[in-house]
Amino acid sequence: MTRIAIIEDEPKIAELIRDYLDREGFESTLMADGAVAMDVLRKETFDVIILDLMLPGRDGMSVCREFRTFSTTPVIMLTARVEEVDRLLGLELGADDYVIKPFSVRELVARVRAQLRRTGLWQNGSAAQPVAQSAALELDAGRMEVRVGNQSEVLTPVEFRLLAALSHRPGQILTRAQLLDALYLDHRVVNDRTVDSHIKNLRRKLAELVPDRECVFSVYGLGYRFEL
Ligand code: CA
Repeated sequence: MTRIAIIEDEPKIAELIRDYLDREGFESTLMADGAVAMDVLRKETFDVIILDLMLPGRDGMSVCREFRTFSTTPVIMLTARVEEVDRLLGLELGADDYVIKPFSVRELVARVRAQLRRTGLWQNGSAAQPVAQSAALELDAGRMEVRVGNQSEVLTPVEFRLLAALSHRPGQILTRAQLLDALYLDHRVVNDRTVDSHIKNLRRKLAELVPDRECVFSVYGLGYRFEL
């Protein structure tokens, strides 16, 4: 069952979204308070989070920022403020998409589906389950860790997605555009350099686990390739 968290304090909007998602066969959990929602997000696993910006208890930005320290689950922000959009999608906050209020629920549901499709690019199964990548390397989405043998390194959500996308297709070249797709649905606020700088950090961490050889190769003019 695909589980969606709806964090929205206007009951009419929240219920409308829930009714649509019900009809699509999703299971929704409604939360109206940012602080309460944060507690739930720490305990339960969802497939997509729909998060309103203006909330009682704790605002959506702060919820998103904290959520990103421990989860890679896609977050779609609801906002009435067009001028906030860059910050929402920026690396600092780490939301995956946004919808400007007032919005069509049909459009929002399409965005939810797009996130679920995209998640399939870097993740198998539920975010809470460890994902075995290859005999040599294991990615654990619950702990946001990569393990080789009994050594592990903690990754950022972006590094985790990058490594998951690359290691799902060992030996295959992924272009920067494909990697950006795995990282962000919306490319407007990021560029190719973003991928390069995250790859650099990822390599540094992988070198701690596998000091004797390279795992992420640059393919000049094309992109990156993973092999271990
Ligand atoms: Ca609100």
